[in-house]
Amino acid sequence: MLTARQRALCRLLPLCLFLAVMLAVLQPDRAAAQSPDETYVVQSGDTLASIAADLGIPFEVLVAANHLSDINSLDVGQVLLLPQGFGRRTVIARPGDTVQTIARRHGLSALRLAILNHTNPTARLFPGQPIRLLRATGPRPVPFGSVEVVSVPAVVVQGRAGWLEAEVERPLSLDVEWSGAPLGIRPIEIRGGEETGDMVTVWGGYVPASVALEPGVYPLIMSYEATTGVTVTRSLPVYVQGRAFPIQNINLPPDKNALVEQEISLKEDEYLSPVWSRTSTAIQWRKPFLLPLPAEAPTTSPFGVRRNYNAGQFFAFHTGQDFAAPGGTVVLAPADGIVALAEPLTVRGISVILDHGAGLFTGYWHLQEALVAAGEAVQAGDPIGLVGTTGRSTGAHLHWELRMYGIAVDPMPFLAQPLLPLLTAREEADQTGR
Ligand SMILES: [Zn+2]
Repeated sequence: MLTARQRALCRLLPLCLFLAVMLAVLQPDRAAAQSPDETYVVQSGDTLASIAADLGIPFEVLVAANHLSDINSLDVGQVLLLPQGFGRRTVIARPGDTVQTIARRHGLSALRLAILNHTNPTARLFPGQPIRLLRATGPRPVPFGSVEVVSVPAVVVQGRAGWLEAEVERPLSLDVEWSGAPLGIRPIEIRGGEETGDMVTVWGGYVPASVALEPGVYPLIMSYEATTGVTVTRSLPVYVQGRAFPIQNINLPPDKNALVEQEISLKEDEYLSPVWSRTSTAIQWRKPFLLPLPAEAPTTSPFGVRRNYNAGQFFAFHTGQDFAAPGGTVVLAPADGIVALAEPLTVRGISVILDHGAGLFTGYWHLQEALVAAGEAVQAGDPIGLVGTTGRSTGAHLHWELRMYGIAVDPMPFLAQPLLPLLTAREEADQTGR
C-alpha cells in the first residue's frame, strides 16, 4: 500500500510534467521575443526548404522556432521568426556596393538579403551602411567578453550527444546550462597564443540530449563572472531533433505491483546518481571505444526502446544496449578508466561502472561476477567482469550503458568516432603539419 506522502507525490507528478513541458515550449518564444526585428516575410514561390537553405538555417530549427505543424502550407506575407544566434552577422557596404554585389561576394541570394534588410536587390547602398547577413551553418564563432565560443552544436539528435568547445582568454570559471541542467564542461587543453604568446584555455564538454527531451529548441546558456563582478551571459539555441524509437509493451505479472517495481528502480537510480554525475576525474580516453564483448554477440534490445508497462501504467526507455552472450563470457573495458562502482544492485544485479573522466561513464549490468574493484584503474581491453543474469534479468546478457553528466545516451556511435572530435582533429593536423 502507498503511504499518504507517496499518494501526494503521484498526484503532483502530472502537474510537474505539465510544467516542464510548458517551460520547454515557452523557452524558444521568449528567446525569439528578445529580437522582434529578426524576421523573414514569406514571398511568392517560397518553400520552407528554400528559405532555410538560403538563410543557412537548419530546416528543423526554422520549423521548431516557428512552431509550424504543417510544413507544406506557407502563406505569402507570413512572418517567420528567425532563431536567435544563427550565425547572424553584419557587414559594412563598400563604395559602389548594392545588395546584389554583397550577396555575390558572400554566395547568398540577393533577393533574400534584400528582404532581410528591408530594401531591394539593386538599391545603391551608402559606404559604411550595415547589411545583415545570415551565414551558412557550421562552427559558429560567437565571441563574448573573455570567451570565444569556438563551436556549439546547432542540432543534437535525441539520445545522442553534441560537442561544445570554447576558448577562454583569461583564467575564469565557465558555467554552461542546457535544458535545465548544468553541463560538466571543463578545461581540456591550454595553448599558447602563436602571435601574442598569451595562454588560451580550451574548455570542452558534451551536450547530451536525453531521449525523454521533446524535439524543439532549447537555449544553451553560457556564463562567467567578469573582473567587475558582473555575470556575463550568452544564450545559444540548440535544436533537439526527434528520432523514432521502437515501442515494447511489457506486462508485469500480477504478483509484481508495477508501482512498487517502479519505486525500487527510482531508488536505485537515486543511489547511482552521485556516482555518475561526477565530472572531476581527468580525461582517461582519446580513442574510439572498443566493443565490450566479442563482435559476434548479437544485439537483443537496442538503446532507446520505449517500454510501455501494463498498457500505459508507466513508461520508461531502455537506457543502454543489450547483447546476448553465454554466461561466463568475459566483458572487456571499452576504454581506459577508473572503476567507480563494482557491487550487486537490486535491479541491475552485479554491476560495474567505469569513470572515463570529464563526466563520461559506462555501466555493465546483470554480471555473474565483477573482476575489478572500486578505485582500480583499467585500460582498454582489460577484463572487468563475466556475463550473467543477476538482478532483474530473464537470461544471460550484457546491458551496456553510457552516461554523460548522468544522462544516458546511445553508446554505439562511440565505437566509430573519437570522443573528443575537435581536439583529436587538431592533434592530427598538428602531427601532419610537422
Ligand atoms: Zn538492457
